Amino acid sequence: MADFRIGNGYDIHRLAEGLTLTLGGVRIEHTKGCVAHSDGDVVIHALCDALLGALALGDIGHFFPDTDEAYRGIDSKILLKRVMEHVRKAGYTPCNADVTLLLQKPKIAPYIPRMRAALAPLMDLGEDCVSVKATTMEHLGPIGAEEGVAAYATILLQKKSEY
Ligand code: MG
Repeated sequence: MADFRIGNGYDIHRLAEGLTLTLGGVRIEHTKGCVAHSDGDVVIHALCDALLGALALGDIGHFFPDTDEAYRGIDSKILLKRVMEHVRKAGYTPCNADVTLLLQKPKIAPYIPRMRAALAPLMDLGEDCVSVKATTMEHLGPIGAEEGVAAYATILLQKKSEY
């Protein structure tokens, strides 16, 4: 396999009143949260799919089916840890990750440093190699109407050198 592999991931979840909102491993103060089998962390789900995609290993639904009771309400950081075990087993390590979060409300900027700090060690990266960006949908479409939240992730992997 090539020394470098690139992967992209995408995830979207519906938002509903009274649920907790966790994004990038960080609890967000909001009146709405994600409707999901797990904790609904779209940032981490997109990252998991980007990691799996880079190595053509499948997708998060294949590894963690939402019909499996074992994953009900699960902290998505655990899913990312398990995906990283597959990445390491394949002999690869992340170079950097870049995430774009699509969310109308609330403002995400104050949470971004904590998200980068939470995500970086899970992917064996420094915080300077984990980018999280957020944009609103300018009130367009279902995300703009605060009915959902989505995230895109891109990850570059490098083959670990063998000594
Ligand atoms: Mg998901």
